[in-house]
Amino acid sequence: MSEMNINNKKTILVVEDNRLNMKLAVDLLELNGFDVLKAIDGETALTILEKQIPDLILLDIQLPGMDGFEILKIIRKEARLNSVKAVAFTASVMKEAVEHIRASGFDGYIAKPFDTKNFITKVKKTLLS
Ligand code: MN
Repeated sequence: MSEMNINNKKTILVVEDNRLNMKLAVDLLELNGFDVLKAIDGETALTILEKQIPDLILLDIQLPGMDGFEILKIIRKEARLNSVKAVAFTASVMKEAVEHIRASGFDGYIAKPFDTKNFITKVKKTLLS
């Protein structure tokens, strides 16, 4: 473990509209000791963020209403959310899509369908970055 041995009491907000992906993400995070907050859309996520500051947001790009880019834009304007890391959930890992994600202020991305082995590794690496 060594360098991956971080404080697992960190809080992660998962924003995902697909129920199966949400369950998988939450199960993996909780199994690894993280505190998890859940939102099925941007409006719900922003309401949660009014009261709580998670360490990391896992943000689906394709959502009903605001998409992941719009939600991150709002988050990045909030000084009190400066410390929050953001990772995109994306179905597209084409070069252009990944570049757009990086340029939009995300700290990284996780491709869907999830690779369960690499999921937690990516989360921990992002929290340590
Ligand atoms: Mn989606």
